[in-house]
Amino acid sequence: MEEKELRQQITETGRRLLQDGLVARTWGNVSARVDAEHFLITPSGLDYMQTRDEDLALYHPADKTWSGPHKPSSEKGIHAAAYELFPEVNFVIHTHQTYASAIGVFGFDRLSLTKEEKESLGGIALAGYGLPGTGKLKKEVTAAFATGAHTVFMKHHGVVIAAASREEAYERALLLEEVCKRNCDIAEQIVPMPQGEKAALKDEILLDIQQTYPNARWVNTEAVLRWALLHRPLTAQLDDMAQMIGRRIPWVKAEKEAVRTVFSSGGNAAFVGELGAVVCGRDADDTEALQILVDKSAVCALNTMATPRKTSLGAFDSALMHLVYQKKYSKQKNG
Ligand SMILES: [Zn+2]
Repeated sequence: MEEKELRQQITETGRRLLQDGLVARTWGNVSARVDAEHFLITPSGLDYMQTRDEDLALYHPADKTWSGPHKPSSEKGIHAAAYELFPEVNFVIHTHQTYASAIGVFGFDRLSLTKEEKESLGGIALAGYGLPGTGKLKKEVTAAFATGAHTVFMKHHGVVIAAASREEAYERALLLEEVCKRNCDIAEQIVPMPQGEKAALKDEILLDIQQTYPNARWVNTEAVLRWALLHRPLTAQLDDMAQMIGRRIPWVKAEKEAVRTVFSSGGNAAFVGELGAVVCGRDADDTEALQILVDKSAVCALNTMATPRKTSLGAFDSALMHLVYQKKYSKQKNG
């Protein structure tokens, strides 16, 4: 396939991942093999909606050099591992998709899928944890690919999918989400759904908060409502929550003052009474990403309630990621 066409395939896939909710913000990345020595990959920290075909980085893994206007994704090593191990692989997608991420937190103990599903996914494996962009993460993912599996769950992080073509890679991402959602639905039934719609109180709280924090929004997904009923904070199990929100999402009473305190003390998300969660980003995109993250975090937390193992991220790793993210983010926003 021509390089020009591959570039289009990658940028289109990036936009589709965002639209289908398989990634948020600039998380995740997409690549395609160009020839025996190079692959094209999405740049680091660039918005998928704004990424043009010419923005992609052409990466040469053998000597770790690249060409293009932007730095290649910091996870290029993971993509390189897939191309190196599998001669038939031409397209690699890394997502932060909700349900597969939730399954990846506690492993395959309770995962049920058919033989056909497993085959369609090109085999599955679980990679151990490594901080984003590190050699440890690359080592863990490489070991998981080395088992022959083409769909690899990255513990506390997301998924990486290797396939022969863009179509096959995308179908695998969607099938994986369907399989994992089916498996998560079972565990979500542990917590009952809240009764009745407390719409008036929700409006009152939001309108009050928006006077000071205009980007504030409710998050009303099933998982978020279920978690709010538990009256307890949620501890980060996934890297992207640790980065953007921090180690914990607090739970506060359904009172205007309580919600206001969360935001005035620098927080950007809180579970509120039995009403759901309120988030507030620095802009509309930021708020939307927070909505996705709080929902995903609730899906993960509900699913891991049934497992006795420790499944949260370490306090140090969470604090470090949050700090790095805040620094990087403010740098990006300031140009
Ligand atoms: Zn990632």
